[in-house]
Amino acid sequence: MIEDKNQQRTSLGNLGEFGLIEHLTHDITTSNPGTLKGIGDDAAVLDFKDKKVVVSTDLLVEGVHFDLAYMPLKHLGYKAVVVNVSDICAMNAVPTQITVSIAVSNRFPVEALDELYDGIKHAAKIYGVDIVGGDTTSSQKGMILSITAIGEADADAITYRNGATSTDLLVVTGDVGAAYMGLKVLEREKQVFQVNPQNQPDLDAYSYLIERQLKPEARRDIKEILKALDVKPTAMIDVSDGLSSEIIHIAKQSGVGCNLYEEKIPVDPQLINVCEEFNIDITTVAINGGEDYELLFTIKMEDFEKIKGNPNFTIIGHMTQESEGIHLITRANTKIPLKARGWNALQNESEE
Ligand SMILES: [Mg+2]
Repeated sequence: MIEDKNQQRTSLGNLGEFGLIEHLTHDITTSNPGTLKGIGDDAAVLDFKDKKVVVSTDLLVEGVHFDLAYMPLKHLGYKAVVVNVSDICAMNAVPTQITVSIAVSNRFPVEALDELYDGIKHAAKIYGVDIVGGDTTSSQKGMILSITAIGEADADAITYRNGATSTDLLVVTGDVGAAYMGLKVLEREKQVFQVNPQNQPDLDAYSYLIERQLKPEARRDIKEILKALDVKPTAMIDVSDGLSSEIIHIAKQSGVGCNLYEEKIPVDPQLINVCEEFNIDITTVAINGGEDYELLFTIKMEDFEKIKGNPNFTIIGHMTQESEGIHLITRANTKIPLKARGWNALQNESEE
């Protein structure tokens, strides 16, 4: 469907490993004052002065985490950076550097890696991170992409998953569930394309969902917004596996319970329409969908007034005593134990 009919194909073998790395990285410059030495030596040299350093890494495997049939390489590169930057933001830290490691089979031409790197470089620019190192090598089969993100924060700003108390409020940024339904739409279009490659899909009705799947954004803005409101989250996590799974992480690690209110969960109108079209329950998608890269956090009850009505945030529940358990309170006011089914479980279920 979105397959790139690239006219020019330069074999990776033409450049060799060092030639390829030089080709991909020669135009990379650094802009963070903390980056003393980027690419070009045996190791990068970074300076964080009196800040704490946070580090997170992620591995993406073709056929497991992404499907190049509907994921353009440029988007893949962008998303790979975003998901790592999101983890740094979830620590209430500022992302500053990344390293990029790629293994590819010789089925990919140099032009394909150029596209992938375009996406990576674009995301690095948008999020203000320097690309300071990495590796490029060959694989027997498919593409493997690993990005490590580094960030900085004042020691007292760092927010862990385990800081929530039983009286805290539960808050989420943006809306949830859209990325999962974007994937469902793309999977359906891929099947249509396989039957009829001439078919030109009209995806207007799904534009937001598809964008959330193919080009998610990390909430790098939230740290500053909260700071301006004088709110420090007590616990925080990013929504990568699904709202319910992340709530359970915070609750378990903090030793508290939680009530999540179905009617409060923020969803986009497009999600509601498309869930109806696919005959899938909206709340199931919203709490299990994953890949939203919004931030989920808890705040002290006394901070309610500061957050209330802010368009960036929705208060979706409150923490409780651990003994009360972790529940979804439905619109009908019934209490259902929240389960961490996550993204893969949901996918398997809908295929049954
Ligand atoms: Mg995370």
